Amino acid sequence: MAINPTRSCAPIGAMLANYGIHGAITINHGSQGCATYPRHQMARHFREPVEVATTSLTEKTTVYGGRGNLLTALKNIWERFHPTMIMVCSTCLSETIGDDIPGIIDEFKENNPDITIPIISVKTPSYIGTHTTGFDNFLTELANSMPERRKKKGETNGKINIIPGWVNPGDIRELKHIVREMGLHGLWLTDYSETLDGGYYEPRPHFARGGTTVEDLRSSSKSLATIALQRHIGGEAARVYERRHNVPAHILPMPIGLANTDAFVETLTEITDHTIPEALQVERARLLDALVDTHMFTTGLRVALYGDPDLIEGLTGLVAEMGMTPAYILTAAENRPWAERMVELTQELGVESEIIIKGDLHELHKRIKAKPVDLIIGHSKGKFISDAEKIPLVRVGFPVEDRFGYHRRSVVGYNGAISLVDEITNVVFERKATAVVSNTLLEIGVEGHTSIPFAYTNGNGKH
Ligand code: SF4
Repeated sequence: MAINPTRSCAPIGAMLANYGIHGAITINHGSQGCATYPRHQMARHFREPVEVATTSLTEKTTVYGGRGNLLTALKNIWERFHPTMIMVCSTCLSETIGDDIPGIIDEFKENNPDITIPIISVKTPSYIGTHTTGFDNFLTELANSMPERRKKKGETNGKINIIPGWVNPGDIRELKHIVREMGLHGLWLTDYSETLDGGYYEPRPHFARGGTTVEDLRSSSKSLATIALQRHIGGEAARVYERRHNVPAHILPMPIGLANTDAFVETLTEITDHTIPEALQVERARLLDALVDTHMFTTGLRVALYGDPDLIEGLTGLVAEMGMTPAYILTAAENRPWAERMVELTQELGVESEIIIKGDLHELHKRIKAKPVDLIIGHSKGKFISDAEKIPLVRVGFPVEDRFGYHRRSVVGYNGAISLVDEITNVVFERKATAVVSNTLLEIGVEGHTSIPFAYTNGNGKH
């Protein structure tokens, strides 16, 4: 049982990843609610209409099987939309009744030889994973089924496959900025930076602008390398590219904070002979300066982190770089390799943390009540703890549904980290009810909270 879970259901991950392919449509093979719930959650976060087809299984089809509904849905979607690709994701319901989705797709293709677009199926029952599992399964299926074999040895498209993982459109744009500054070309697996954060166009385009094309996916086997920027979303897909197409895999932590972003930039230099441009060096120096400027306000604060495994691994790095202690690190996923890696990482960083897998926000709340923290970092669902305990919540992750425009923000790269350092520090100022006069910080203090004495300094550097 979960009380106030931090996770979402698995199909939503596959649907989100599929949104990053230009002209692709999702068919959710399950009951109507299995399409409606993810659509609403995505629409509340991305503030865009989210279109997903459903096979609308009912009591009858649940008993006798959903083959007929899926065949009809495939035909209807093709005739009404002419998509570039169709992705069929399963649900708890269709997996439980045991529908053979790949077999039904094969039957459809045999009966409709004139429909030549790729149709892939992705397994996304929510009882074997979370929304991140759905995203990861989609990427693995994509890597297995879409790339074409190289026609001759050494044939290359000159690009680098980059798998951002579960991020926001603003994050993808920041990653693109880094790759562009390096003078390189990324092939994005996948890219919803515009499809889920587009402009208003008249007339409305048939498909949302942007997204990786099917042609690019076909040629992704000819890339110079694959970089997965989340170990647990896209790491396996990167390994598939290496095994099947000899494209070297680089699996990195999510590039949040200084060290994690350095790892990404350095990997780009290792793959190519390009050097780090001055523009990125300046951004890096600016982040370092922000860490130095804020450390006296943040050092020693206790933080609770919750959310997706890769996101909170990246955040743990930044939190430690700010001198704070990630006291609780909680994810809903039952991901033991991640937990072991987090134990290692927190030891390397020299911080004392409690790492919780398969947890919910009720668990986190209990721990915070027993031993409070100064700050909570996670998605909107932590608001109830924040309100009850009067501890500020810095919103990062998915979903952020009680604030506007967070999907446009970025937490990755040097620029993303600077924004996060600014936001965290400002929240700390607010919570401490501080008064800042010129560059002198006076702590007024708030009753009932753990309080780390602030350093304060005057303009002459006297303490
Ligand atoms: S039944 Fe399963 S797939 Fe459908 S909405 Fe619920 S958790 Fe998601």
